[in-house]
Amino acid sequence: MSLEPTFRNIRGTFDILPQDGRSEGAHDMPSRAWQHVEQVVREVLERFNFREIRTPILEPTELIARGVGQLTDIVSKEMFAFRRGDTNYVLRPEVTAPVMRAYLQHRLDQQGAVQKLYYIGPCFRAENPQKGRYRQFHQFGVELIGAETPEADAEVIAAMMAVYEAFGLKNLRLRINTLGDAESRPRYREALRAYLQPLADRLTPTSRQRLETNPLRILDTKDERERRLLEGAPRIIDFVDEKGRAHYEAVKAHLQALGIAFEEDPFLVRGLDYYTHTTFELESPDLGAQSALAGGGRYDLLAMDLGHDAPVPAVGFAAGIERLFIALQAQGYAFPEEPPLDAYLVSLGEEAMRRALVEAQALRRAGLRVDLDLKGRSMKAQMREANRQQARYAVIMGERELAEGRAVVRDMQSGQQQEVPLDELADFLKGAVRVS
Ligand code: AMP
Repeated sequence: MSLEPTFRNIRGTFDILPQDGRSEGAHDMPSRAWQHVEQVVREVLERFNFREIRTPILEPTELIARGVGQLTDIVSKEMFAFRRGDTNYVLRPEVTAPVMRAYLQHRLDQQGAVQKLYYIGPCFRAENPQKGRYRQFHQFGVELIGAETPEADAEVIAAMMAVYEAFGLKNLRLRINTLGDAESRPRYREALRAYLQPLADRLTPTSRQRLETNPLRILDTKDERERRLLEGAPRIIDFVDEKGRAHYEAVKAHLQALGIAFEEDPFLVRGLDYYTHTTFELESPDLGAQSALAGGGRYDLLAMDLGHDAPVPAVGFAAGIERLFIALQAQGYAFPEEPPLDAYLVSLGEEAMRRALVEAQALRRAGLRVDLDLKGRSMKAQMREANRQQARYAVIMGERELAEGRAVVRDMQSGQQQEVPLDELADFLKGAVRVS
């Protein structure tokens, strides 16, 4: 192979390779670590009786524009969208709007009072790539659709926390807030705008722009000077009606009953437009600037944004898998080792190589993990390969052994060898692997 490849993966994306070790353009955890993380996520969420939904990567652009909101960063700046024929396509930047689309389209409301759905898969945002922020990244999350109770909010938060607990992650910080409903939001927005307008020349250019378009997003600011300006700003909670407050109080009480520690943050708004009532975000100190592991909230109005004729109560969370990896690595998480290869078949000569192919099939059918030489290399090179692959046994098949219907089985650790009849090989290896 030439040294400089003609093509490289796109900046902000990465390959997930089977082997450990760093390579530019590859994720620093191997695919088996990804499989492990996905498996733990599935196990935990299925314990809560969430069931998997898989929606397409491609969605109509309009779905995301209306669902996530025209004025959000995601829709205004970060969509990978293109047109083909009469259709506008987008690579999904998140999965909540697609899941709600699927729920409405397939009339999942008729499949039971409450739908508890989870997903795992890639999302795409044209952001500036940096540690913890990619253009193709992976999310898992849940959507609990059909229940408006504060218990539903608590159930979703509990499921989210249970995933991180299963990984033993420490020092997590859960912040929660309420955003009120469709009536209180506009009133609050105006009050906030009125408060900030006289301070406009002290705001950053981004915030000054948001003052016109989406003033709530200014509350998200990381700029210290702006944070100080916001200290005297009106609080959302003072605009939330009694029912909304009771909902929020109940969510907090449930979290306490569940032993889930949280902090209230009156400035937590999150970057997506569809949230009402409860919002929350989970942070880890191990993540640096991109500190959010996961976030979510209630989005009862999303269904109507998507053209449905009535609100559909729903609450969910979305979590970044790459960020989970960063936190796991920082806390020294022990990822499972690769399961060892049971046997490597070493064959000498063309006839032996053909026989090895057939023997390998028989051993695999018997449930063993087996590989063999496919290049016709020297005996020495094949033994080196068996070693490199950390095979427990090398099964050596030369012309003479085959003529006698036998193979030499070498224990790669002790170096002990013995001859085994070919028709007993599977049983022998299965027994030996079980013992070792
Ligand atoms: P959001 O839908 O923006 O709240 O994202 C939910 C979670 O997905 C965040 O808390 C992050 O963990 C993760 N996430 C969002 N955007 C990115 C990105 N560009 N790269 C990596 N992870 C991301």
